[in-house]
Formats: sequence, structure tokens, C-alpha cells
Amino acid sequence: MMHAALPALIFLLYLAGCLPFHLSHESDESDLSDEDLFFAERYLNTIYSPESSPAGMFQRRGKVSMESKIKQMQDFFGLEVTGKLDDDTINIMKKPRCGVPDVAQYNLFPRKLKWPMNNVTYRILNYTPDLTHSEVDQAIRKALKVWSDVTPLNFTRLRSGTADIMISFGRKEHGDFYPFDGPNGFLAHAFPPGQGMGGDTHFDDDETWSSDSRGYNLFIVAAHEFGHALGLEHSTDPGALMFPVYTFTETNKFWLPDDDVQGIQSLYGAGDQDPYAKHPKTPEKCDPELSIDAITGLRGEMLIFKDRFFWRQHPQMTDSELVLIKSFWPDLPNKIDAAYENPISDRIFIVRGRKFWVLNGYDILEGYPRKLYELGFPKTLKTIDAAVHIKETGKTLFFTENKFWSFDEETQTIDKGYPRLIEDEFSGIGDKVEAAYQRNGYIYFFKGPMQFQYSIWSERVVRVMRTNSILLC
Ligand SMILES: [Zn+2]
Ligand SMILES: [Zn+2]
Repeated sequence: MMHAALPALIFLLYLAGCLPFHLSHESDESDLSDEDLFFAERYLNTIYSPESSPAGMFQRRGKVSMESKIKQMQDFFGLEVTGKLDDDTINIMKKPRCGVPDVAQYNLFPRKLKWPMNNVTYRILNYTPDLTHSEVDQAIRKALKVWSDVTPLNFTRLRSGTADIMISFGRKEHGDFYPFDGPNGFLAHAFPPGQGMGGDTHFDDDETWSSDSRGYNLFIVAAHEFGHALGLEHSTDPGALMFPVYTFTETNKFWLPDDDVQGIQSLYGAGDQDPYAKHPKTPEKCDPELSIDAITGLRGEMLIFKDRFFWRQHPQMTDSELVLIKSFWPDLPNKIDAAYENPISDRIFIVRGRKFWVLNGYDILEGYPRKLYELGFPKTLKTIDAAVHIKETGKTLFFTENKFWSFDEETQTIDKGYPRLIEDEFSGIGDKVEAAYQRNGYIYFFKGPMQFQYSIWSERVVRVMRTNSILLC
């Protein structure tokens, strides 16, 4: 019984977590409130805590270890590794997430645990008041099916007795010495396969659970937790179901991402038939064939959109951060067609299909989406391929198929004489554009894996590059 001694051990660690020690207010962290510091400390002690592994138990605690935890966390999330609680770091800490640690060797359990059999049982011990029993049953069944669809695993529900995966809802301390934390923060956790508590999956009932986009979607969280209950750890791939941060996605067309399929099949092998062979892959920035959907500036950063994702490219940094569109703007679609920044009004304009959204930083303005034809575009226009704002003229160019329009930002009207043919105005870039941005007198046009640097002044292409060079590949 490997878990027999565990609760006592964890209890000691929990007490140790209450010993007084604090992150100091350093000069560049002085704008952080005590509340933020306390919060960050609890986050790091729960998720990045060497002290909670038996080997790390007697290590000296102090500021140095806190800084190294911050660094580990920044490394996991692909942030700049500074060891400081900067805004990006605090922002990620504040996102709702799974309560299982991110760093495998700090788990209390040996690695590569899996069920030795393909027939695994589960039992739902209690229910949340937020949903009907049948809604909970359905979310659980569907979440397990995500994994059985791609493996030889079968799940059978038990109504009594001890099942391999015991599922329950609980608040705060709920019987395993891993207390929940009230609304938001940590949403759920699960134990890796094994006897006793192994495989057990707990949901924080201080959350509001739903079967849609409100609160937290039980199916999405359960599917993630069952990944742990089957032996998976957290993935650093922001597109993976096993990424630790919660992001809502449409559940009626949920496809298990490729990263998770690889992970679970490395433990159990592939199943006989996969009814949804379409497993989305996360784009790789240095793929020589990389093409992009849209590109825009945002207050000095570049946002480069591809499928469900965008890269944030800071001007002074060599590495870029890949994030889900929905994790920043839950109300934007999963894929966009065009984007540009108007630095004068400090607004970002995003197009998908016939609709557009206007953003102020990371906030979507009220009253959006609106329809493109409200700006004067023809009602027959199905979408925009690319848009670029020219700061010097105050005009925005909208490209679709082989033509483009010039839009006056000040009067909010389309200029006379448009649309015109792309090849008449911008020779050398072909007759279709997929993304574009402007910098220092050049427009950079993207089409498939190629990028054209076009000089506005000399009206010609001065350089042709691979698309992925925007990501410093
Ligand atoms: Zn997790
Ligand atoms: Zn628990």
C-alpha cells in the first residue's frame, strides 16, 4: 500500500507551508500588492514546490528557492526567465487552472504510472448542485470517451463499491490534504493510476460548473483530469488538453489535440478505431512551410496569428510566446482572417468572416462584433484576407482575393476609386495576400511560406524571405 503513509506526510508539508517566510518587495516588484505576493507564494508552493517531494523536504527555504520556482514556472510557460514576478508571470498565475504540480519530478509519485489493465472502472460519488445528475453523468462519460477513443481502454461505471477512478466534488479540505482554494484558482485535481486514492478525481465545488461556456465547463476540466488519472502529466504545449491552464473551447466539436494523443498512446498504445482521426497539431514556429493567418502590432509587440494560436513577439526578446487566442479573448473566434493596429487610437481590429471586433489592449470593446458592410464594404464580401494600417497616411488597406480597398480611419469611409487590383498597385507580390504589417516605410506581405518586403517609397519589393523569419527562425 504505497499510499498508506502519504496523508500524514502531506499533512506535515502543509503545516510547513504555513511557516512564516515571504517574498521580499524588490524595487521592480514594489508595485505588487501584499495580496499579490501572498497569492504568488501560495501558487508557487502548490505547483512548483520541491519541499513537497520527500527528497526536498529538508532543503533550506528562503528567497533563493522562491526565485528558482519563479524561473521554473516562467520556463514551463515559455515566458522570459527572469525570476521576477513581472506582469506576464502574475497574469498567468491568476488564470484558473488544474491543481496538479507542473514539474513532474516534484510530484509525490514515481513517473510513468499507468493502469495495468484496459478495463478501468469509475464511480461518481456525489454531484455538484450546479448541474443536473444527467448533465454530470454525461460530461463524465464524454470526458472518458475522449481517451478511450484513441486507446484500447474501456471505462465501466460502477454504482457502488470501490472503482479505480472515484469521482467527487468537494470544497476546501476534502479528505486528501490537498485542500481546494474557494472560487477560481485551482479547479480540480486527480491522482495518477494506482491503488487507494490512485486515479481518484476531485472537483472544487466552490467553482460554478456548467455544460456550456459559463463558469467552468465540467467536460473540459474532467477530460483534463482524467488524463492525470490515466498517467499523463502536464504538457508545456499551449494547445494540449494537458496544458495546466483552463481555456474554454467549443465542446460539441472537441478534437483531442495531437500532443495528448501522442502522450496517452505512449502509455497504452492506439485503439482499434479512432472515430475522430482529426487531431489538431500545434504550429511550430520554425517550420519552413509555416504560413500565417494574420499579423498585427500591439503596443510594441507583434501578434502573429495561426489557427487557434498567436505568438507574442517582444521586440527585445529572441523567443516568442505561443498562446491560445481564446486564453486572451474568450469571445473571439478560434481562427481569424485579418488584424491590424491603429496606434493613434490605440485600437486593434480583428476580422473573421463577415464580422469584425475592435480591441483596446486585451479588452474587446462593447458592441462588437459588427458586420464589415457597416463600414461600407459590399454585402457580398465574404471575408478579408489581410489588413494593414499605414501610419503616415492614416489609411488602412484591406485585401481580399486579387483586390484591395483603402479605408480612411478619420472619416471611417472607404476611399473613392476602390477596390483596385493588387497587381496594379503592388507589383511583385502576386495577386493574393494572407497577412500584412507595416514598419519603417515598408509593408511586409505574407503569402504561404513567403514574405515580401515592399518599399512604400520606391514602390517595389526589396527583399523576399521565409514567413518564419518574422519569428526569428
Ligand atoms: Zn492538470
Ligand atoms: Zn482532492
